Order: sequence, then structure tokens, then C-alpha cells
Amino acid sequence: MKHPWLVKRPISPWLPGGLSRQNKPNRTERPVLDQDKCNKCQLCWIYCADGVVKRAEQMSIDYEYCKGCGVCAIECPRGAITMVREGTE
Ligand code: SF4
Ligand code: SF4
Repeated sequence: MKHPWLVKRPISPWLPGGLSRQNKPNRTERPVLDQDKCNKCQLCWIYCADGVVKRAEQMSIDYEYCKGCGVCAIECPRGAITMVREGTE
């Protein structure tokens, strides 16, 4: 059996290996990103301590690992991220 620390998880930009666990079941809110408002400044990627914001052609969030802390929504200078209660649209 693989040791839990050897299980593949997203890599945080600041902490090698990251702190992420699968947080989907424990989350009360999730960040929803409005691509029309996003200018790809990458601040959400920098501030997310769990390294679950993905940089590609469009920014995206890995909801399997996001813990719903809301830091990305607070730091986004464009107001492109809104925290939405789980179980709602
Ligand atoms: S911080 Fe906001 S504007 Fe910047 S990349 Fe993230 S979602 Fe887009
Ligand atoms: S709410 Fe935002 S900052 Fe917090 S874990 Fe999820 S993506 Fe990262």
C-alpha cells in the first residue's frame, strides 16, 4: 500500500508537495471564476496556498482539492471570483 504522502496531489507554488487533500466533501463554499472578468493576472494562482488554481489558456480551479477558503476571491483585483454556497448554482 502506498504511503499517504506518496499519493499524487497538486503542487503548491510555495510548499513542495502542497497541503492539499481532497476537500470537496468538506467544503461549504466554492469559488466560481468569471472568465469574462478575468485578465489572467495570476494573483489567484499565487495566493492559493493549496496550489489548486490552474494556469492554462484560461484560469481554472480544481474542485476536487479546493478547500473553499475564499482567499482567491479576496485577492482577485477584478472581482472575477465569487464564492458560491455548495449545493446552489
Ligand atoms: S486573480 Fe482574478 S483576474 Fe487575476 S487571474 Fe485570478 S481570476 Fe483572473
Ligand atoms: S478557495 Fe481559492 S484560494 Fe482557497 S483553496 Fe480554493 S482555489 Fe485555493
